[in-house]
Amino acid sequence: MITTLRTDLTVKDLCEGFIYNELEGKGLFGMGGKLVIQPEYQRNYIYADGKKDVAVVESILNGYPLGLIYFNKVGDGKYEVLDGQQRVTSFGRFVTNKFAIKDQHGMEQYFSGLAQDLQNKILNTPLTIYICEGEESEIKNWFKTINIAGIPLNEQELNNATYSGPFVTVAKAEFSNSRNSNIQKWSAYISGAVNRQDFLRTALDWVSNDNIDGYMSKHRYDDDINELKTYFNTVIDWAATTFPDVKSEMRGLDWDGLYRKYHHNPYDPSELSGQIEELYSDPYIKNRKGIFEYVLDGCQNPSLLDVRIFDEATKRKVYTDQTIKAQDKGESNCPLCALGHEATRAKIYSLSEMDADHVTAWSKGGGTSEDNCQMLCKTHNRAKGNR
Ligand SMILES: [Zn+2]
Repeated sequence: MITTLRTDLTVKDLCEGFIYNELEGKGLFGMGGKLVIQPEYQRNYIYADGKKDVAVVESILNGYPLGLIYFNKVGDGKYEVLDGQQRVTSFGRFVTNKFAIKDQHGMEQYFSGLAQDLQNKILNTPLTIYICEGEESEIKNWFKTINIAGIPLNEQELNNATYSGPFVTVAKAEFSNSRNSNIQKWSAYISGAVNRQDFLRTALDWVSNDNIDGYMSKHRYDDDINELKTYFNTVIDWAATTFPDVKSEMRGLDWDGLYRKYHHNPYDPSELSGQIEELYSDPYIKNRKGIFEYVLDGCQNPSLLDVRIFDEATKRKVYTDQTIKAQDKGESNCPLCALGHEATRAKIYSLSEMDADHVTAWSKGGGTSEDNCQMLCKTHNRAKGNR
């Protein structure tokens, strides 16, 4: 790879004919069409938050260095931004009046409203740019190792760079596009940020059954994403039909895992819905995210719900009551040991040798309160728990 340092280009040069695509959230072109700001292997523009984009402009106004920018030379006098896309798009959007900064009096100022000398200061700011020339694989490898302005690329952004091509382009248009009207619906089931590729990552994870790299490599040069889209929609539709009431705990569940495991079973959505409402009103359930699999699985595995256990004060109180009564009768303070014929039938256990047990199981409606608590020796408690 050959690199050449250029320090003669300014903000003004790069912003010549700057085009920002609001729809795709991308800075597209600069330098009068000679510069591609966001090649397809680049991640989406993520500085449009009123902080990072403003910080870029304030750095320029304060005369702070903007850091190195790297271009990839793709033809005679033509370049792609390899590193610096977020910064370039930020100042490009500012000088085209896409956002405002606050002046020293806290007033909003767009570029066109700034004093002429400040406008000139921005436009004439020189940039430090390395122009790189090399093979695609060389450039991509190097791109994977650089860190863009303090926000490292996440795994999916790196995958998009590594496997860039028609498939990634079409897939991003569907799953990484915050203007896609389906995003709101999908957000009920999927957590993360559209522009950080979390939805695309989820879709790929599902269709590939957790082999994203292999899938992207195999489909890199496909120009359609039919399988990806169909599988994703199948899982989402199954979730939406099975659980018509949207709950916030649904977000980020392993829906594909649930789909693979349970979609062959028939369910009555209104029955599930009733069960879910009941479980939601149960104060002993600590893990509400587990409710969905719990009902799919026929309400037989309470470990999915992480049912609240007895607190220390309750245990100590029950232990004391039980022990006093047992000592009076001359039998074990473990009621199950007391029923037996072994040496332990008169044994008084210490508190640390015992565990709290639900007299009536939680799954049969027993609460986690003092009147449903008994202390058992650890051996008997374990035996009961395994039944
Ligand atoms: Zn016992």
